Amino acid sequence: MHYISTRGQAPVRSFSEVLLAGLAEDGGLYVPQTWPTFSDADWRAMRGLSYPALAARVIAPFAAGCLTEADLMKMTTAAYAGFDHPAIVPVTEVEDGLFVKELFHGPTLAFKDMAMQLLGHLFEHVLASRGETLTIVGATSGDTGSAAIEAFANRARINVVILHPEGRTSEVQRRQMTTVKAPNIGNLAIQGTFDDCQDLVKAMFADVVFRRDMHLSAVNSINWARIAAQVAYYVHAALAMGAPDREVSFAVPTGNFGNVLAAWVARQMGLPIRHFAIGSNRNDILSRFLHDNDMSMRAVVPSLSPSMDIQVSSNFERLLFELLDRDADACATMMMDFRKTGRMNIDPDAWRRATALFSGIALDDDGTRAEIRSLYDNSHYLADPHSAIGIAAGRAAREPGVPMIAMATAHPAKFPDAMEAATGLRPALPEHLADLFEREERFRVVENDLGLVEDAVRSLVLSNS
Ligand SMILES: *Cc1c(COP(=O)(O)O)cnc(C)c1O
Repeated sequence: MHYISTRGQAPVRSFSEVLLAGLAEDGGLYVPQTWPTFSDADWRAMRGLSYPALAARVIAPFAAGCLTEADLMKMTTAAYAGFDHPAIVPVTEVEDGLFVKELFHGPTLAFKDMAMQLLGHLFEHVLASRGETLTIVGATSGDTGSAAIEAFANRARINVVILHPEGRTSEVQRRQMTTVKAPNIGNLAIQGTFDDCQDLVKAMFADVVFRRDMHLSAVNSINWARIAAQVAYYVHAALAMGAPDREVSFAVPTGNFGNVLAAWVARQMGLPIRHFAIGSNRNDILSRFLHDNDMSMRAVVPSLSPSMDIQVSSNFERLLFELLDRDADACATMMMDFRKTGRMNIDPDAWRRATALFSGIALDDDGTRAEIRSLYDNSHYLADPHSAIGIAAGRAAREPGVPMIAMATAHPAKFPDAMEAATGLRPALPEHLADLFEREERFRVVENDLGLVEDAVRSLVLSNS
């Protein structure tokens, strides 16, 4: 399998190369040169597989030429062994025909673990076979940083340095990062905002000498391997509901468009998926686009669902590329205009192709609390703010006779204040995190200064080599 950039100006790459590279050199995102497909008989044969076996089968065509299904099976088995639910991704029916698939039973209680746990093994395997080492740097406002730290702690050949804005993440989120004791993990509390942290990461990548000396890499949500890993739970959910002999629909709370893009990839691979319902908070660029073709950036406003407080949904570029019939020049022009003007003009035919498959709703904080409360009152189901928005989107788009499966992306205990305000209940952390507030924290406070941050990264890398 080869990968091409959505902007057409980067070299064609293999799965392993795309894994390590993340973003393409031309600023585009890597996508498979052709979409692999499974036949109905292939899908039916997957019905009895365990989740790790199913994931290996689904990911194998994307990794063809680099990794075998047997290699992947070893890695998926190890990646999902630490999940604290026997079904790994359990599903429950909350209303007639409306199902919830829980993706939050991994170590950091958010769906990011589904892909990131596997990425830890993929990186280690690929780096060992090439005899290389890497330093992963990233900025986080919450879930991504902790998922990366849990996935890469104690892995050979990899150092991880995560920047978070000092005092601006929730305490649960900060402690999930700073209490992991491993020699290859560094946490920097930056005296600034999340945007400052992101700018520092970009500046480190732009510092060519530093980038080369430190072998910098990233595991942000545009990494293709993360998308590939996420396709597996959509396949798992669809097969359990009777696909390929029956249509299903999915509802997904959306920020960077990575999670719902994986659902769409499952459809490209041949699964009969009828509809994708997207849920946003007040940062609603995607639902505005789907309502009236208004793709325009606005300032980010904080909400009860912080992992969806996003102004630009980076993975949307992959869908756009397909909507444009894979015209990379057109895609590059539109994305560059979007960065310049803050608005994207999408041709009405392409927009209609998108709205034939996708719909979107947006809930503000009051609407989110009301949804959490009514789910609890009517179905005795506790959904975190992100998941509640996805469930509301699913209910709005439900059609008779087509199961609607909503993705639950975070454990309610990750957002105890929001849950208590909505339901009066404070959900307890699962057992493996019960003593989180007693654990010792380790992080360095660093000024918002590129030189000081680079020094801190260098000293971690040197002390661990
Ligand atoms: C990251 C995240 C999302 C958004 O997922 P995208 O792939 O960015 O659309 C939703 N909910 C939770 C809890 C998350 O951590």
